[in-house]
Amino acid sequence: MKITKIDLLYCDPVEDGWRPSFCRIYTDEGIYGDGEIALSYGGISGAAFAVMQDLAGLLLGMNPLHHEAIWQRIYRKNFFAINGGPLTFGAISAFDLALWDIKGKAYHAPLHELLGGKQRDSLRAYASQLQNGWGTDRKPARTPDDYARQAEIAMEKGFDAVKYNFLTFREDEGRYTAADQNAYLHPKYMKIAESRIAAVRKAMGDEADIILENHCYTSVQSAVQFGNMAKPYGIMYFEEPTAPHDHLLAAVHQETGLPVASGERIYSRWQFKKCLENNAIQIIQPDLGTCGGITEVKKICDMAYVYEAGVQIHVCGSPLVTAASLNLESAIPHFVIHEYNVNTVMPKMTSLTLYDYQPVQGSFAVPDLPGIGNEIAPETFQRSQVVTIQ
Ligand code: MG
Repeated sequence: MKITKIDLLYCDPVEDGWRPSFCRIYTDEGIYGDGEIALSYGGISGAAFAVMQDLAGLLLGMNPLHHEAIWQRIYRKNFFAINGGPLTFGAISAFDLALWDIKGKAYHAPLHELLGGKQRDSLRAYASQLQNGWGTDRKPARTPDDYARQAEIAMEKGFDAVKYNFLTFREDEGRYTAADQNAYLHPKYMKIAESRIAAVRKAMGDEADIILENHCYTSVQSAVQFGNMAKPYGIMYFEEPTAPHDHLLAAVHQETGLPVASGERIYSRWQFKKCLENNAIQIIQPDLGTCGGITEVKKICDMAYVYEAGVQIHVCGSPLVTAASLNLESAIPHFVIHEYNVNTVMPKMTSLTLYDYQPVQGSFAVPDLPGIGNEIAPETFQRSQVVTIQ
């Protein structure tokens, strides 16, 4: 089998200005596979589309079933791939997802089977980023009641785990700045955050999980202040308390005793190695659309298993990368919980692909279609700028 052509798609913005980018890799045997570079938000979506254009030519003429050989070729032929990075590893990820999709279709097997078989049929999920509210109706949560209400909605939908950034929005209007959170949290600010956490715990009772998400805005000192204040409310784990560096995360874990999660801004097995060796991360969160694809993330998961760190794949892309993530999460022994990002439940996002996997009573089923379990919808080609590499 040979790769004959690659279509690269840069979609019209979905709500909130997110611009997803996809690839479709074609072969001489009529099978195609789809991938996604999961950098549609965060200010570099144009660069994400461009880096795929820079690198796609490396795949032409290669056998798509040779995913390791192709991974090495892109890694070695691209000067800036060494030591990871979102753009180059994002492009590797998009192509790698499409290659596994082709492999699954060629062998008539779902991804989880190619990865060694399902170890579970159902994946517990948490409702993520509830400070923003749900889907298209979202608006910032500001009062403790707003926070409790979002938790109640999650429970009505069957979730027993939620994640919030409790430090994002001011009580009146606007947002807190990075400067408000870095280095030190003022007692008034701590009081507001604590009232929100207490409201969520009260709303959910003591048989539900709360995850803290700080998006790297706090520093070691303010993260330790915040983590120790939150700890008595029963915290499942503490995500991105600081920038994703092993010495900082390890200090937060040591000073709070909370399990620390990080990974959406950590790329490649080399970067994860340092964090695992130094017991800086207890829950790894690699993203299949940025970390080096299925090929790389499976290796990172295996490495984490040695250190007995759990896995929660970071999911903030379209339903395409969600489908692949569900497959991988079902096929590893140390899966913890699936991230259901309520910000991505917008019609313009969910209609990008043929299938839209949604949780039922707080859990996902595992896709069983050959390949990664989803593909780009035909209409998405009409909604996108398309560049063909051949
Ligand atoms: Mg996060």
